Amino acid sequence: MNFSSHNILSKIKGRNDSFVVNLLSGNADIIEENKIDIFSDKGDITPEMIAKGYVITKEAEQLLFDEKYAEFIQNRNEDEVQLFFVPGYSCNFSCSYCYQNGYDNEATPLRKDLIDGFFRYVAQNFADKKKYVTLFGGEPLLPGFAYLQSIDYFLIQAKQRNIDVAVVTNGYNLVEYLPILKKTRIREIQVTLDGTQEVHDKRRTLKNGNGSFEKIVNAIDKSLTMGFSINLRTVIDKDNIDNFAALARFAIEKGWTKNPLFKTQIGRNYELHQCSSNSSKLYTRLSLYEDFYSEITKHPEILDFFKPAFSVANYLHEHGELPEPLFDACPACKTEWAFDYTGKIYSCTATVGKQDEALGTFFPEVFLDTEKVNQWQCRDITTIPECEGCNLQLACGGGCGSVAKNKNGKATSPDCRPVKELLEMGIALYFAEK
Ligand code: SF4
Ligand code: SF4
Repeated sequence: MNFSSHNILSKIKGRNDSFVVNLLSGNADIIEENKIDIFSDKGDITPEMIAKGYVITKEAEQLLFDEKYAEFIQNRNEDEVQLFFVPGYSCNFSCSYCYQNGYDNEATPLRKDLIDGFFRYVAQNFADKKKYVTLFGGEPLLPGFAYLQSIDYFLIQAKQRNIDVAVVTNGYNLVEYLPILKKTRIREIQVTLDGTQEVHDKRRTLKNGNGSFEKIVNAIDKSLTMGFSINLRTVIDKDNIDNFAALARFAIEKGWTKNPLFKTQIGRNYELHQCSSNSSKLYTRLSLYEDFYSEITKHPEILDFFKPAFSVANYLHEHGELPEPLFDACPACKTEWAFDYTGKIYSCTATVGKQDEALGTFFPEVFLDTEKVNQWQCRDITTIPECEGCNLQLACGGGCGSVAKNKNGKATSPDCRPVKELLEMGIALYFAEK
């Protein structure tokens, strides 16, 4: 018998007790200060530690790993696929941190034959899959009748094929688009608000420098009233983190947080693309969560607006059990693909629009570079050499393939997540001392 190679053991932040989390056996415990020796050579192994898989033979552990891995692959094969579609890289905003400034922006409404080509490709290649399409940009909801008409045509095609649609928009023209969105099944509308009015308007301006806060807030209110689900995203960096609590209070006062159609997410502003931001303002994943931790301890009302994951800590708190082991955190070319208005196919939203990352075309010709696709599809913790033997692997899943590729030159390389440190904070926040 040995200690499991998947035990994640550490002290809870700011406290004397510790935790053990084991994603393979699906167990987690808080360990009182005077009992921590049982996880070292100084202590005696208890029957409970064996029952919970914290202590296990190498052979039994390998068997369980293989069984869970097979389950993971099977579930993923049955999972719904998200197909991003970019109608153009143009945008009516000029955000202070926009990574797409470096992209070619050809401002023309979508062509019908290209939309037809996209849905033909989807029918041919994803016929046996559950799927939905997400409109993404640039900004997919641009002003003007021609843009409105082309999105209307796109939505009609989706509806005729029984495919749900989600929309990622800056929200500025959303109100004008709501009547045509109402014609089809919209899964959710993701809108970005980076803070309360003063902060948001400094970051997310129109091309002419005007602010966008009031129109977006009005669009959120209208969308919720009309029965659309809103996913409010806040892009965080060091310039707006200290406004996050005020944004949370604003959303609470608006009554949004009590609405079952309303949810939130955060986007870390980070250097994945050609980024125009000053990099000293950007967060690493760990420093972002450290600042979140400190903001939440000062302003607990933030948790009514947004509950950070802190690795698996929030999941454990909300569900009373651990999630299934994560053998792969990167859905690129597995349950996620991206397509754009030029007819190109990409692995996901992180690579879409980067010419050297294109994997093929769906229009006018259909072509897919299977060798390139394989490099994404084979990526998981069993094919990234550095992940072998890492005790964090089933919480981390190897991270993001695109970040790894940018950093190390190939997708099958690690993008390490600070799992232990995140759990130290998350367990402190979500679980009281015994
Ligand atoms: S990416 Fe890094 S932290 Fe994640 S499993 Fe691999 S080696 Fe471990
Ligand atoms: S490459 Fe990164 S952004 Fe793209 S699907 Fe994988 S994890 Fe997501």
